[in-house]
Amino acid sequence: MFRSVKIKLFLWFFLTFSLILSATGFFIYRELGGIVIESIDNHLHSEIQFIANLLEVEKGKIEVELQEASVGEYTVPYSGHYYQVVSEDDIILVKSPSLADSILPLSPIESLPRNAPRFETSTGPKTQPLRLMSQLFTIQNKPIIIQAAEDLSDSYRIIDSFRSVILLILLGVFLLSGLGGLFIAGMALRPLNVFSKKIGLITEKNLNERVLIEGLDTELKQLAKSFNATLERLEQSFLMQRQFLADASHELRTPTSVIKSYCEVTLKQERKVEEYQSALKVINEVVTKISFLIDKILEVSRLDSQMVMRPEKLDIMDVLKDVYHLMLPLAEKNGITIALHGELKTVVNGDRERLVEMFTNIVDNAIKYNQAGGRVDIELCLINKKDASISIADTGIGMPQEEVDRIFERFYRIDTSRGEIAGSGLGLSIAKAIAEAHHGRIIVQSEIGTGSIFKIYIPLVFQ
Ligand code: ADP
Repeated sequence: MFRSVKIKLFLWFFLTFSLILSATGFFIYRELGGIVIESIDNHLHSEIQFIANLLEVEKGKIEVELQEASVGEYTVPYSGHYYQVVSEDDIILVKSPSLADSILPLSPIESLPRNAPRFETSTGPKTQPLRLMSQLFTIQNKPIIIQAAEDLSDSYRIIDSFRSVILLILLGVFLLSGLGGLFIAGMALRPLNVFSKKIGLITEKNLNERVLIEGLDTELKQLAKSFNATLERLEQSFLMQRQFLADASHELRTPTSVIKSYCEVTLKQERKVEEYQSALKVINEVVTKISFLIDKILEVSRLDSQMVMRPEKLDIMDVLKDVYHLMLPLAEKNGITIALHGELKTVVNGDRERLVEMFTNIVDNAIKYNQAGGRVDIELCLINKKDASISIADTGIGMPQEEVDRIFERFYRIDTSRGEIAGSGLGLSIAKAIAEAHHGRIIVQSEIGTGSIFKIYIPLVFQ
């Protein structure tokens, strides 16, 4: 319901604080009420014991002795201090003059406990609230009830005014704590606002900027670190995309300018049919290259967004057999011997089409960058219990060690292979992306003039 952290913080603080405070106020109020009533009860108790003692000392002279006890406050009519002595048949034997014509509410003898007083809150002669104590005594073998009572009006007034004071204090504290809570919540969240303003200033134009971690509160440090890491990744992918766009346009520029100049030269004058045919032939070849390049570029950008995989349990040997048959004609055309080794049944979880594409890209290179009469050996083996290992070895031109790490970059082609052998520089970057999508990896060993070995590891599926 509440979408603001500040309001949530404030409400939690305020509700908790109010609950504790209200409970404390209520507890104090109840305790005070209890203390007041308890002190009245004690007073009544000693009063009744006093009256009972007088009755016991002077047997037979109940009325006379009690008159002596009924001094001071007990003589003033409706003074608020009352007593009465009642016989077993509810006859009032003696009562305090303060009662005047009235009597205290009678307690039936059967309802009274033996040897213990009974306290109750009742209504007095002038309908004022009374605290009444009744106790059963045996005088001259006869049951006698002694009752004493105190007017509770004053005590109730004290308790009521105490309640008003507590309510007033609570109201003040609620108000102050509410304002304080809002202030504290605002203060606590201020660094977050500062932080949000800082990150609000970062756009695609200054993706290289980072949020300064020093000086931030501990809680925000982690947030800033994660944010900076996200920025780092964003910047990398932004730069990669920019580079990709630049490279792609660069790669397309050469063939398009070839077409343009061919068209311009051919159209300059009237030509023979054969000349037009030869120009169109060249243009057709270049257009074929362009469309191949565009296909690769599209493929790479598709890999960049989200590689759609249709994984299934595959015997990798079946996949390699497909690759072998696919590449055999090219190998024969180039005078290269190609062989497939290993008969292991090795199951991986993969996308057949993608894996075929990955292996063909590598085998295609092994044939392309080979030497006359060379070999390509595809071998499947298990180097450990976790991965299927496929090695594709050629006896080709090889690569300098410092270039090996770069061949998986997009559009990267080793200078020596540029020009002489057709290629886009995208095949290995696609192969790497496919291997990674299968949680696998590719390792390359190469030596100039001797050849290269590409080792591909794909995790096994355990059945
Ligand atoms: P290309 O279309 O140029 O073959 P790749 O991404 O497939 O693009 O390969 C990148 C570069 O790596 C190639 O231009 C080539 O120089 C080098 N390369 C790849 N495979 C081999 C290999 N088997 N032997 C020698 N060089 C290779």
